[in-house]
Amino acid sequence: MAFAVRAITLDLDDTVWPFAPIGVRIERVLDEWMRRHSPATAEMFTVEKMRALRERIAAEHPALGHDMSALRRLTLEAALRESGGDVALADAAYEAFFAERNRVECYPDAIHALERISARLPIAALSNGNADLARIGLDHLFTAQLSACSFGSAKPDPAIFLAACERLGVPPAEVLHVGDHPDADVAGAARAGLRSCWINRADDAGRHAQWRHAEVEPDLHFDSLAALADWLDAALPAPGDRYWSTPA
Ligand SMILES: [Mg+2]
Repeated sequence: MAFAVRAITLDLDDTVWPFAPIGVRIERVLDEWMRRHSPATAEMFTVEKMRALRERIAAEHPALGHDMSALRRLTLEAALRESGGDVALADAAYEAFFAERNRVECYPDAIHALERISARLPIAALSNGNADLARIGLDHLFTAQLSACSFGSAKPDPAIFLAACERLGVPPAEVLHVGDHPDADVAGAARAGLRSCWINRADDAGRHAQWRHAEVEPDLHFDSLAALADWLDAALPAPGDRYWSTPA
């Protein structure tokens, strides 16, 4: 296999950092915030009830399925309204959420690997979530950032992949999309005409998922971003060479 890679698009949640611990902390921080600023809301919407409310709001607004920020804001407004609280507190509650959402703990290999990769190729972040790379302090590693919220549709829609390629100024066939999700990342990228790299990290028990997608196979498959950086180093024979191939 030999193909040109001139740029990278990169998923964030569960590729650069694990999302699950962030999700747990967000629920706890919002609960504490409501206890302090709107106790009736915290009383009525416990962590479990707030979770159910988010699901209800998402079901009521299918057109906002790609926009995690809008759904979060609507959920906070509904919780305040339905508990007789002050809906004007929604902005401050959202800020408490957003600060926690951007308190990420990267996988141990991620930052060094991205430093290595970004020294060779432009990277565009391509996320269905609402992380803010500038707030996180990683935006210097990226030449562009696209999110489903700001773009208006989510992966695996080919449109968001093609928009990222356009921002990078590189044709889709020469862009490698890197991500953890078989459908949103790998199948989505393949359908949009990009190359795909599946990042299949070990779970807490050290196990790796099996590839189960019927339609497509990833072009590349690694268990970390460091392994991808190694592959890129080994595959690129000389600086400026556009053609990359699987090392022997
Ligand atoms: Mg992901």
